[in-house]
Amino acid sequence: MDTNRGAPTPPIAFGRTAPVTARLTAPAIGVDEALLDRLRGSCADVTTDDTALDETSRDWWPLAMIWALDDEVAARAAVVARPGTVDEVAAVLGVCNEARVPVTAAAGRSGVCGASVPLHGGVVLDCCGLAGIVAVDQASMVVDVRAGTFGDVLEDELRDSHGLTAGHWPQSVELSTVGGWLACRGAGQYSTRYGKIEDIVVGLDVVLADGRVVSTGGAPRQAVGPDLTQVFVGSEGTLGVITGARLRCHPVPPTERRVAFGFPSFVAGLDACRRILHRGATPAVLRLYDDIEGQRNFETGAGVHPLLVLDEGDGRLVDAVMQVVTEECTGDGAPLDGDALLTRWLDHRNDVSALQALITRGYVVDTMEIAARWHDLPAIYDAATAAIRGVEHTVVASAHQSHSYPDGACLYFTFGGQPPADERDAYYRAAWDAGTRAVLERGGALSHHHGVGLNRSRFMRDALGVGLDVLAAVKAALDPNGILNPGKLGLPSPYGPSPAWP
Ligand SMILES: Cc1cc2nc3c(=O)[nH]c(=O)nc-3n(C[C@H](O)[C@H](O)[C@H](O)COP(=O)(O)OP(=O)(O)OC[C@H]3O[C@@H](n4cnc5c(N)ncnc54)[C@H](O)[C@@H]3O)c2cc1C
Repeated sequence: MDTNRGAPTPPIAFGRTAPVTARLTAPAIGVDEALLDRLRGSCADVTTDDTALDETSRDWWPLAMIWALDDEVAARAAVVARPGTVDEVAAVLGVCNEARVPVTAAAGRSGVCGASVPLHGGVVLDCCGLAGIVAVDQASMVVDVRAGTFGDVLEDELRDSHGLTAGHWPQSVELSTVGGWLACRGAGQYSTRYGKIEDIVVGLDVVLADGRVVSTGGAPRQAVGPDLTQVFVGSEGTLGVITGARLRCHPVPPTERRVAFGFPSFVAGLDACRRILHRGATPAVLRLYDDIEGQRNFETGAGVHPLLVLDEGDGRLVDAVMQVVTEECTGDGAPLDGDALLTRWLDHRNDVSALQALITRGYVVDTMEIAARWHDLPAIYDAATAAIRGVEHTVVASAHQSHSYPDGACLYFTFGGQPPADERDAYYRAAWDAGTRAVLERGGALSHHHGVGLNRSRFMRDALGVGLDVLAAVKAALDPNGILNPGKLGLPSPYGPSPAWP
């Protein structure tokens, strides 16, 4: 992946045959000269430069990557503010709150659901300037890090200067920031050992809509009312702006082992994963591919559903985990060349160049990650792949299992279609509707780690039921003027409803 270290990487080049305009027709809030002056008084780096607005207003939402070829973003901000301090964040929010101007936090802009798109214009708050490690408590293995720090920068410094790792390796590690991980409830590829970001975080600093700063958590566990850290984890910029976080770390692992097995069916492989987790083994990587993805990624042959397993850590623990894995896979599974398959996966796991190439050639592609109990996963796999294949113009629908828990796992679906150019939006929406309905009707969660953003907002009532009213009440209490990232998470907005698309 060709990335800009420590800075956002554009998802795809604009067509650049016309000025960039907004595709969606949501009411957009402008910023007049008087307000611009006040923003400039609050933050040293404030711009209305067109190129900055074009780039900062978009993320890696695959549908909007198609629009970019026609020089369109989903929506466009009026101003970009780039704070370098918590005080600047607080001052910008204070000004916007008083003026009722929307503020959308954006950082790596690697979100894939349009979450950081400034749907109603106003100010994009670019959090990338809030970067760097503040302190490391080596005895407790906790790092205090600023929210705009990119993943690879954090890991390099933790490893090189402190002999530690946070163990959080999303495929987008070079594209995304600590604040973005927390705001989206992200998952790393080694999460079966280290947990998702909500398991890794022990405390946050958050600037509220009115400019007040709250620090949450800090101790390994506490019983001091509900967990306020988790109120903000997954809030996608709608409840506050995260400026700093305390994350649990681990020693850089001294040992690593790899094995792989091929299963005759996806269900047989899922059941092996379930048994491994039920015995208490938590290999860092436990990835089961259906035969379509096995063949596409590893050329493992027709009818083979490969399970790739990698663990790391203390040698004795790793040996014990791999012993359990081997016992549970032997029988239903046939041994494969684990070293070769894992090496291939490690070498290519962050390469997404195929995505751009496919979009440029007219394909509509996306991924849909969900979570469900082991009991429900086989039916969800069958129903969701069948439902997406049933949508006209679908070329492929496949899945792998990528994050496991004692009670269930994440299924990560990939789909692609080749509709006529004027039906791309309609195809995209139909594929998402079909796949999501199949998941929700069978008890699955709407998202495991990509979050909701704009794309999944329309499913929030079905996903949460009365829970959406609870979330709306929290939003109204913390952000009474509704300025923070309006139009996301299915929440009501004072600026009008989310536009229907296509
Ligand atoms: C190629 C690719 C691979 C990916 N792989 C993974 C993966 O393996 N695991 C995974 O979990 N995700 C993955 N993603 C999705 C994406 O990288 C994550 O959602 C990531 O957490 C977003 O971080 P970001 O800094 O880019 O946030 P952005 O995209 O800038 O923002 C995402 C959301 O977070 C909010 N936000 C950002 N910063 C703050 C802040 N400081 N305070 C409050 N709100 C904030 C924004 O308002 C927005 O709602 C992938 C994306 C791509 C393009």
